[in-house]
Formats: sequence, structure tokens, C-alpha cells
Amino acid sequence: MGKKKKSKKTAGWTGDVADLLRVGPDFDLASFDRGGTPGWDGDKTSAAAFMRKRGDELSDLQERLFADGKSDGTHSVLLLLQGIDTAGKGGIVRHVIGMVDPQGVALASFGVPTAEEASHHHLWRIRKQLPPPGKIGVFDRSHYEQVLVVKVDELEPPDVNATRYDELVDFDHEIVSGGTTLIKVAMMVSHAEQGERLKERLERPDKWWKYNPGDIDVRERWDDYQAAYSEMLTRTSTEEAPWYVIPADRKWYARLAVTELLYGALTDLDLAWPEADFDPKVELERLAETSRA
Ligand code: AMP
Ligand code: MG
Repeated sequence: MGKKKKSKKTAGWTGDVADLLRVGPDFDLASFDRGGTPGWDGDKTSAAAFMRKRGDELSDLQERLFADGKSDGTHSVLLLLQGIDTAGKGGIVRHVIGMVDPQGVALASFGVPTAEEASHHHLWRIRKQLPPPGKIGVFDRSHYEQVLVVKVDELEPPDVNATRYDELVDFDHEIVSGGTTLIKVAMMVSHAEQGERLKERLERPDKWWKYNPGDIDVRERWDDYQAAYSEMLTRTSTEEAPWYVIPADRKWYARLAVTELLYGALTDLDLAWPEADFDPKVELERLAETSRA
């Protein structure tokens, strides 16, 4: 007798992740469950299998985007990652973006502005890093730090800072109008989980490089940061450039969800392979003529 095949339901998404995680007018950060796995009908193991499948698909979609860019296409994608230290931004870059060809990726990280950057308008350094057609841009932190660390630490006068929300919305509009699909992701980790992750960074010598004593200063201002995130999310989530809030206490879920958002955005572009600007038949004949057999 042959082995009986277990009837196993394939794990998957129960709904549109983008709809589930998009920030709408009623969004309330305080009641947002950071340990949740909205929309995922499965566990960590089934997520890993699903990620492999999506990885192959993403790779194909990214190549289409790249090919389109080489053929005078105007599309690009920008995945913007925000989150407090330990929220898992680096893990997204490694595990999600790591699934596609690095030649098609334009990665930029934004830290404390250099003296030169600080001498310009805050969007100066950001503009320089916007992805060209054909590329998937990834921002590890972004122009939104202007209403996060800059606001919380009062690095500019509050009355000036208050004007930033509208400015950021206008800037997003400019990005989107240029042919870029903007995916704004806010990774939200709980206070307890952040404590665990910082502890791990301190206890493991292979993680010390990730630690910065300033991370504790930021943690001490947890409530201020939460208030700043909340205001940012509700004031700058627009129809053309919405925020997606990702529960980040389970790393596997955060990666799975961001993968799905990227997959959805690339699928929506509906890119066909570019037409040849030569005659393949003629070229095949020419190739045959080069035979030395
Ligand atoms: P990390 O992402 O851990 O390498 O840290 C980058 C640091 O740069 C964080 O502490 C951010 O708060 C800081 N940072 C990013 N953008 C700005 C900005 N516009 N002004 C001040 N600090 C910033
Ligand atoms: Mg850090």
C-alpha cells in the first residue's frame, strides 16, 4: 500500500495584506497589537515555505521591472522603512530584499546628517537617493525622521517642525507623480520585545556592533516616540502614499507581510517583457551562419 497522503491545507493569506495593514483615518496606534499576525492563516514554518515561493515570484517581477527600465520605462518602486531601533529594518533588507537580484536594488540608509547634509534643506540628501526607473529603492530610515527624532529631540523649532507634515505629504506626491510606487512601512515593536532585543544585543558579542548606547536614550523617550509615530501615521497616510503598520514582535511575520506588500506592488505594475528592437528570426539566422561545425 502506498503512503497515505496527508490532506494538508496550504497556509496562506486570508485577505489582502495591504488592506489589513494600511493606515486609515480611524487608525489607533495605542491599541495596535504588535504581536499579531493579521491575515496569516498559518505558523512560522508555513510562512517559511510561502516565503520561498514568493521569493521566486519576486525575483521574476523584479527582473521585469529592471528590463522595463532598460527599455525607457518610467516605473520604479520605493520601499521606505521606519521603525525604532531593533524593530527589524535590517532584517527586512536582508531577508526580503535579499531574495532579489542586488543589481536591481538601490539601498540607502539615513543616519544623523553629515555637516554637508545639514547645511542643505532636509530633503536634499533624500532626493539624491530616489530610485531611477527600473529599480527597487529601499530607504532604511527616511525623510520621515524629520517628524520623529527631529521632533522628539527638538532639533529644529517646534513651529518649523509643525510645517513638516504637509511638506512630507507634498514630497511623497512628487515621488509618486514621477512614476514611483511608494510603500511606506512602519515597523512597530512592543516595549517589552524591544527590551529583549536590546538585552540580546548586549549579551552577545556578535551583536555588539548593532548596539549604540544612544538606543537606551531613545527607549527612555518611548512615549514621546509613540506619540510622534502616531501623529506621523495619521497625518501623512494618503491614498497615493499610504502607511502600512507592521506588527513587528514576530520577525517572521514582519518579513512575510513586507514581502507581500512588495509582491502586490510589483504585480500591480503588470509589466510585460519588453519587445525586441531587433528581429529574433534574423538574428538566429545570423547566429547559425557563425557555426564552425
Ligand atoms: P541606525 O539606523 O541605528 O544606524 O541609526 C541612525 C541614527 O540616525 C538614528 O539614531 C536616527 O535617529 C538618526 N537620524 C536619522 N535621520 C536623522 C535626522 N534627520 N536628524 C537626526 N538624526 C537622524
Ligand atoms: Mg540603531
